[in-house]
Amino acid sequence: MSETNPFAIAQRQINDCADILKLQASERAMLLTPMRELHVSIPVRMDDRSVRVFQGFRVQYNDARGPCKGGLRFHPDETIDTVRALAAWMTWKCSLLDLPLGGGKGGVICNPKELTPGELERLSRGYVRAVGTFISPEKDVPAPDVYTTPQIMAWMMDEYSKMAGENKFGLITGKPLPLGGSAGRGDATARGGMFTLREAAGVLGLNLKNATAAVQGFGNAGNFGAQLVESMFGCRVVACSDSRGGVRNRDGISAAEVCRHKEETSSVIGLPKCTPVSNEEIIEADVDILILAALENVVTDRNADRVKAKVILELANGPTTPEADDILYRKGVHVIPDFLCNAGGVTVSYFEMVQNMYLYCWSLEEVQRQLDLRMTKAYHQVLEASKTHRINMRRAAYVVAVRRVVEAMQLRGWV
Ligand code: NAD
Repeated sequence: MSETNPFAIAQRQINDCADILKLQASERAMLLTPMRELHVSIPVRMDDRSVRVFQGFRVQYNDARGPCKGGLRFHPDETIDTVRALAAWMTWKCSLLDLPLGGGKGGVICNPKELTPGELERLSRGYVRAVGTFISPEKDVPAPDVYTTPQIMAWMMDEYSKMAGENKFGLITGKPLPLGGSAGRGDATARGGMFTLREAAGVLGLNLKNATAAVQGFGNAGNFGAQLVESMFGCRVVACSDSRGGVRNRDGISAAEVCRHKEETSSVIGLPKCTPVSNEEIIEADVDILILAALENVVTDRNADRVKAKVILELANGPTTPEADDILYRKGVHVIPDFLCNAGGVTVSYFEMVQNMYLYCWSLEEVQRQLDLRMTKAYHQVLEASKTHRINMRRAAYVVAVRRVVEAMQLRGWV
C-alpha cells in the first residue's frame, strides 16, 4: 500500500535525497521538520449571527535562502500534515528556481463553497488578524492556492494594511492587477509547466502538434493548462475532469468551451458531444500527455502500471506517490515533477514581490520572457542531475534544490 500522508511522503523524499547527497545528521535533521508553525482558531460571525470557529495553520518550513513564500488553501480536508508537506515542497521549489526565498504554506479547514461572500471575506480577514504577527513582506509572503482567489488576497492585503497603518501591498501575491498584482500571474503556473513540456518534448523527440492530452482538475492550474497546450503547441485535449467527474471525446474538446460550460454549470460534466469519464479513468487515458492539476496521491502503486501517457505534467502538488514514481520510471514515463513543473506560479509571485518593492510594473511580455528563462534553465539542470546520478526527475530535482538549501544553512552557520 502506498503511504498517503503527504508529510510522511515529503520526509521520505528528503531522506532519500539526503542519502544521495550524503548529508550530515544535523543537515538532515534541519530539512526533515519545519522551522516554525502556527495553529490558530478563527471566530467568524456568520450571516445568521451565529459564530463559527475555523482552524487555520501557517507553516514556515525553511527560510535559510530568504523570506518564506507559499500559498494558502481553503479546503474541508486540510490537515497540518498537508500544510507541512506543501511548505517543504515550496522550499525546494523556490530553491530549484534559484529564487531568494524560503518555503511556507498556510491552510484553513473550511468549505468555501458553503460560505456566502460576506462570510468568506470575514474568514479571510480573520485569518490575517490571527497570523498577522507571524507573516510580513520580510518574513513570509502568502499567495493563492486551492479554493483561494485574487479577491481573497485583496481582502487579506487590506486587513494587514489596516493593522500596519499603511499600505502593505508586498504582504501577499496573486493580488488583482489594480492592487499591485503582476501581469501574467493568472496563468503563470500552467505556462511555466508548458515551458518545461516544450523542453521535454525536444529531449524525447515528441511532436507536440496533434499530441493528445488529458487534464485532471479544471481549476486555475488545469484550465490554463488545457488552454495553453492547445494554443501554444496545437495539442488536442481529449479528456478533462473536476471534483465531480470528467468528460471525454477522442476528436478533441475545446478548452475554451469547457471553461464556458464550467462557468455556467460550475462543472465540466455534461459538456455536449462528450461521454462521461471518471477521475480514475483519466489517469489511465490513452494519451501522450497527462496533466495532473487537482490534488495529492492520484497516481499510486495501484494505477501507475496502467498509465499510458509518455509525459506527465504535475501542475498539482504531490499527485504521485514514491512507489508510483518508481513504477513510472521503470516504464519510461517522463515525469516533470511538481516542484519543477508548477514553479511558474511562485516565480511570477516572486516577480510580483520585486515589482511591489520597486513600485514598478513589468509588461506581460517581460514577465513571460523572464519566466521562460528560469523554467527552461531549471528543467535542464534537473535533467542533467537525472542523467549524472541515474535517478528519476523528482529525485534529481531534490538533489539540485536541497543542495542549495544546505549550502545556505552552512554559510549561515546553522549546520
Ligand atoms: P483550484 O481550486 O483552482 O482548482 C482545483 C481543481 O481540482 C478544481 O477544478 C476542482 O474541481 C478539482 N478537483 C478537486 N478535487 C478533485 C478530485 N478529487 N479529482 C479531480 N479534480 C478535483 O486550485 P488550483 O490553484 O488550480 O490548484 C490545483 C493544484 O495545483 C493544487 O495541487 C495546487 O497546490 C497546485 N498549484 C497551484 C498553483 C496556482 O498558482 N494556482 C501553483 C502551484 C501549484
